[in-house]
Amino acid sequence: MKTPIYLDNSATTPLDPQVVAAMLPWLTEQFGNPASSTHAFGHAASRAVEAARADVARLVNAEARDVAWTSGATESNNLAIKGAALAAQKRGKHLITVQTEHKAVLDTMQWLEKQGFSVTYLAPQKNGLVDIETFRAALRPDTILASVMLVNNEIGVIQDIAALGAVCRGNDTLFHVDAAQATGKVAIDLAQLPVDLMSLTAHKTYGPKGIGALYVRRAPQVRIESQMHGGGHERGLRSGTLATHQIVGMGAAFRIAGELMADEVPKLRALRDQLWDQLKDLPGVLLNGDFEQRIANNLNISLDIPNCDSLVTTLSDIAVSSTSACSTGGVSHVLQALGSDAAMAGNSIRMTVGRFNTAEEIDWAADYLRSKIEDCRAGRLRVA
Ligand SMILES: *Cc1c(COP(=O)(O)O)cnc(C)c1O
Repeated sequence: MKTPIYLDNSATTPLDPQVVAAMLPWLTEQFGNPASSTHAFGHAASRAVEAARADVARLVNAEARDVAWTSGATESNNLAIKGAALAAQKRGKHLITVQTEHKAVLDTMQWLEKQGFSVTYLAPQKNGLVDIETFRAALRPDTILASVMLVNNEIGVIQDIAALGAVCRGNDTLFHVDAAQATGKVAIDLAQLPVDLMSLTAHKTYGPKGIGALYVRRAPQVRIESQMHGGGHERGLRSGTLATHQIVGMGAAFRIAGELMADEVPKLRALRDQLWDQLKDLPGVLLNGDFEQRIANNLNISLDIPNCDSLVTTLSDIAVSSTSACSTGGVSHVLQALGSDAAMAGNSIRMTVGRFNTAEEIDWAADYLRSKIEDCRAGRLRVA
């Protein structure tokens, strides 16, 4: 087996070879600036950018003109939250989010607090899901924006965005959704969902790093203050020369995701379940986050086994992600917010399977992890 086996597809994915092929011409002969309106170089780049915009919009069933390019979901979250808060501050200065959001949301909210906004950070339930009545009760007349992610990046749980958004609509509160982990795994229909702003990124869906998008609803129109000033690109929302090759890559990645999704999701689920089936009966292996309302490719476990807290540091043949709820250092704010016995038990291991994993790899990885856990329990494995 070629190791390490990559089981960290929620951190980033490899590029699909078809995405690389689609990008290459735009790095060589087709180098024009999409904003150059006076010659064929610019026209070709501009057409490619608009075709990619349509591909990205199609995956989330939005209108292409509602999609603005950014550098990734971090920037999209900043633009959506700061932009909406600053544009709506005359109506109110209260925002709501959840303790388990990505740092790109939480740190942005904290910055807004320093600017005089007030933020409610809701605790999720022990399974990671936001309770709808708790959410409803947090809304105030001056709540201008709520931000709740669609899929959690650590534990993979899927929030009920439709229900949360409906509550926001009833309170005249804008609703932002970070969907960085969801594209290609969860069907998203922005024509139906009561969502005003949605952050997207390419590199968790087999596209390149450094490119993302923000969906900004135009009907009814959502006003946001731009955060990057300059040439007025993207209808003034986000200035800066468009990165044609990156944009073409994101378009290709999202088009492929849309084509493959129906077949790929069950395949990912089968691989994930194959892994979980081999681990779930081991004493001390605990699951973090709801198992049902969860994306197909995510497994997040804690080990409640004495002296095995640092087991993850010995797993050199599998590429996984680890965080701890209790120890200092790599503290997971997500597991802490859950506060469940499982989450607090010990170090967590996140394993996320992807398009290019095989059943043989999963078998090998499951055997490997199982034997490491058993060795550790029996005192045969020295962990730091
Ligand atoms: C990865 C991720 C981000 C950051 O996206 P970048 O494109 O890497 O900036 C934001 N939110 C979530 C939920 C993520 O998983």
